[in-house]
Amino acid sequence: MDFVYADRLQQLPPYLFAEIDRAKAEALQKGMDVIDLGVGDPDIPTPAPIVEALKKAAEKPVNYRYPSYAGMLSFRQAAAEWYQKRFDVELNPQTEVLTLIGSKEGIAHLPLAFINPGDIALVPTPAYPVYHIGTLFAGGKSYFMPLLEENNFLPDLDKIPSDIAQRAKIMFLNYPNNPTAAVAEAEFFEKAIFFAKKNEIMICHDAAYTELYYDNYKPISFLNLPGAKEVGIEIHSLSKTYNMTGWRIGFAVGNPSVIAGLGKVKSNIDSGVFQAVQEAGIIALRSDEALVEANRKIYQERRDVMVKGLREIGFDLNPPKATFYLWVKVPQGYDSASFCTRLLKEAGIVVTPGSGFGEPGEGYFRIALTVDKARLEEAVERMKNIAL
Ligand SMILES: *Cc1c(COP(=O)(O)O)cnc(C)c1O
Repeated sequence: MDFVYADRLQQLPPYLFAEIDRAKAEALQKGMDVIDLGVGDPDIPTPAPIVEALKKAAEKPVNYRYPSYAGMLSFRQAAAEWYQKRFDVELNPQTEVLTLIGSKEGIAHLPLAFINPGDIALVPTPAYPVYHIGTLFAGGKSYFMPLLEENNFLPDLDKIPSDIAQRAKIMFLNYPNNPTAAVAEAEFFEKAIFFAKKNEIMICHDAAYTELYYDNYKPISFLNLPGAKEVGIEIHSLSKTYNMTGWRIGFAVGNPSVIAGLGKVKSNIDSGVFQAVQEAGIIALRSDEALVEANRKIYQERRDVMVKGLREIGFDLNPPKATFYLWVKVPQGYDSASFCTRLLKEAGIVVTPGSGFGEPGEGYFRIALTVDKARLEEAVERMKNIAL
């Protein structure tokens, strides 16, 4: 029998990376040496002390039982301490911190707690797809806020019609940003908080990339700003900071009523994060900053190799201050898809078409710096050898 998908699955946006996935599979089948700069998944291993902590914790039978829904208090305490140390933000670990099975899980479930069918969420575009899809699954509608280069890839809140603003329940933000690598300063967050208060909107700030920063730049937390905790939460992840994408651990922090609502959804759907992973997470959050610094150094070197190479080829770009992405304009005569297809077919390089992240991403492509320096140098050489 072939069962028919529910409407919510039928409503999913078309998968725009299908063509590039197909072309990649074809290239691999032909035996091509493919350089994959497509996926935002660190190639660097999780630091040894964190892995050791997991091994030890995995031997403790107390960890084999159901974890607490909100997460171990000790993990939530470590997260609160980390926020205090890193961002100078005070959090009550009992009421203002919630362990997540990765930030994707928290983002996807948040709308189930606060969006009724027909309600509006303000969703950036181009963006990580989960903000829109979480909204859709809750029966809500996304109002898309374009992120344009002329606005430094920040949404222009003044352009949101007042009837939409009044009806909106959640605004999703993400800085440092995937895919544009843009960053946001206090001034923008202050504006967003003012907007949220005025229109009684909750802000959900996805802060997955705050620890991947370069040069003299250091991202702030949305919760650094006065009034932020009254209007929203920040979602953090250990995935990118400690190369732990496969471990599935993150946390939400901020407004206690939002944390409680998200916790209520989760306690009815999942049963928390394996305690051994939370124990390893505590070691990660309490680890020496040198561990993350080593990571940043690697990405910074890769960024510099790629930016220099792309500039030599004739691309016009500035080195990003944060994230492990480069967001680059396609050359004259191409759109995102045709450029990415050509790069794959002729140079064996996978990059992501910007249009796949949303319509204003058309005309761009995204490079993920998740392969080593030598491979990036090889990618640059290959690009030089095809006339773009
Ligand atoms: C990688 C990424 C995350 C992290 O997801 P996890 O579920 O924590 O692994 C969150 N948001 C964005 C924008 C990302 O790119």
